[in-house]
Parts: sequence; C-alpha cells; structure tokens
Amino acid sequence: MWSDVDEVALRAEAMEWLAAWTNDGLDAISYEDLDDFRFRGDKFPLRDRQLGIRKPAGMSSAFSITTTYRAPGQERPYDDRLGSDGLMRYKWDGDNPEKYTNRGLRAAMEQKRPLIWFWGVAQGIYKPIYPVYIVAEEREHQQFVVATDGLQNIESTGRDVDEVTKRYVLQETRRRLHQPVFRGLVMQAYGTRCSICMLRHSALLDAAHIVPDADPAGVAAVRNGLALCKIHHAAYDVGIIGISPGYKIGVREDVLNEVDGPMLEFGLKGLHGNKLSVLPSVRKERPDQSLLERQYRRFENDSVSRRLRADFLHPTDSPG
Ligand SMILES: [Zn+2]
Repeated sequence: MWSDVDEVALRAEAMEWLAAWTNDGLDAISYEDLDDFRFRGDKFPLRDRQLGIRKPAGMSSAFSITTTYRAPGQERPYDDRLGSDGLMRYKWDGDNPEKYTNRGLRAAMEQKRPLIWFWGVAQGIYKPIYPVYIVAEEREHQQFVVATDGLQNIESTGRDVDEVTKRYVLQETRRRLHQPVFRGLVMQAYGTRCSICMLRHSALLDAAHIVPDADPAGVAAVRNGLALCKIHHAAYDVGIIGISPGYKIGVREDVLNEVDGPMLEFGLKGLHGNKLSVLPSVRKERPDQSLLERQYRRFENDSVSRRLRADFLHPTDSPG
C-alpha cells in the first residue's frame, strides 16, 4: 500500500517531470516518452495502457484520466463533455459505479487529489493537462465533473450558476484546457511549423484561429486553425496578411509599398503571392476554405478602404 506522503510526492513529481518534458506545457508528449517516468528509481506508467482511468494498485485513489485521440470525421463529442456550468465531464469506465476505476476517481474527489488529464492529439501523442480535480459526480449521467486548476472550489456544479460565474468558469476552462488541446492538435497536424514561413521553433509558434470565436465553448476544430509563428500570427490577426481560400498569401497594399529592413522585406512583403508552405497531410485537417474566405473578404475590403482613405488624404501621391 502507498502511504499518503508517497502518493502526494508521486503526483507532485510526475507533474514536475511533465513540465520539464513538455516545455512547461507548450509541447505534447508521446506514449513512449511517458514510459520513461520513474518514481524513486522504479518505472511508474503515468497512464493506463488500456483504460481511460489509471488507478494504480495499492493507491487509494485514481492518478490520471485519458481522452483518446479521434481523427477528424470520427465521432468526437467534445461539446457533450462540457456542462452548462462551464466545467468538463468525464464518463465512468463502463456502467458499473463500483468498478475499481470509478471508485478510484470517486476517492480522488473525496480526497481532493490533483490528477493529470491526458488528451490525445494524434495517435500515441498526448497533451497533459494538470492539475485537474474531480469536483462532483453525476450518477444519473454516469459521469464525473472535472475542474481545471483554480476552479476546484467552485460550488453548485451541475446546477444553474449565475451568469458571471459561468462566464468565468468557461473562460478558465478554455484557457487551461481547450486552448492547450487545440494547440496540441494544430501543432501535430502542421508538424510544428509555421504554415507561412516554415519556422519550427515551438516556443515561437502559435495555434492561430482562422475565424476568432467560431467555437467559444469547446476545442476548436483543426480546420479552423493554422500553425503560425508569432509575427505571422499577429500579421494575420490585424489583416496585414490575408490567406485566400486557395491558400494564397496576400500582403496588404500599403505595406507592400513600404520600404524598410529585412523583416518587412523578406518576412512580409516577400511572401506576397506565395502559397502556404506547410499544410496538414490529412485533407480533413486542412484550413476550411469557407472560413478562410470569410476572413479574406475582410482583408481585401480593408486593403481597398485604406487605399481610398490614402487617396483622399494625399491625392498627389496617387498615380491615377
Ligand atoms: Zn512564420
């Protein structure tokens, strides 16, 4: 049997180890790498090879939970897992409430133990989210209520909460769970490279949304995402760069007419007319053309209205 002290130490060490391996949560981790964790010299698997819930023998409560990767098109009920209170739900293992795995999660709830949630972002690749806490059980739906860090003391889960609390809970769940998982999915799909310039420094890359807030309540789909470096992400968001539904890059007219140093010349102006350099190999993960079109129309309108404004303010600069 594990002592209380050991259980607490194990959880803390496992989370520190994950932080070191994943660049403080920026990167995902493979199943093989997960196998390397050791506690006091002995191998300790962080997730169960077969089951969603890891309840180690001799431990009083569950240690981790896993959500398996589903390729796009396969059933992936993300939104079913988000409760109306903004907290996530995790299904029982099977339908027997007394199965040892379900009892283990219940014990983690009673003992308020921090757990690790492994989210599959590709075959055998996981984004670990931690710590998370089981804060309630909904037996009628055969599921547990999971809170990310900071939300473990939110009360009245499962019931109607006031609007302010709900908005806060949603925002936190989004920041600590949905966005990291979205990042993991997008980075896997793009091989951790900027789609525009191919830069591959994970610390300089973002998972950008094509249309902001297209899916405020859940993990956005990869086809509403693009892996972009920091500068191209910002340039896309403010409309300096546009991406056509045919994946062609456009640079805003007034910027094309500017003269400046190498970042402007090569990093922005030089891209005009190019196609995206990196696209997911899986067709269903590629940027959605109707979403791109929606943003591209705004980019073009903005370009035109800037030209009209410039012509109006400085009529002599205009060639026509
Ligand atoms: Zn880039």
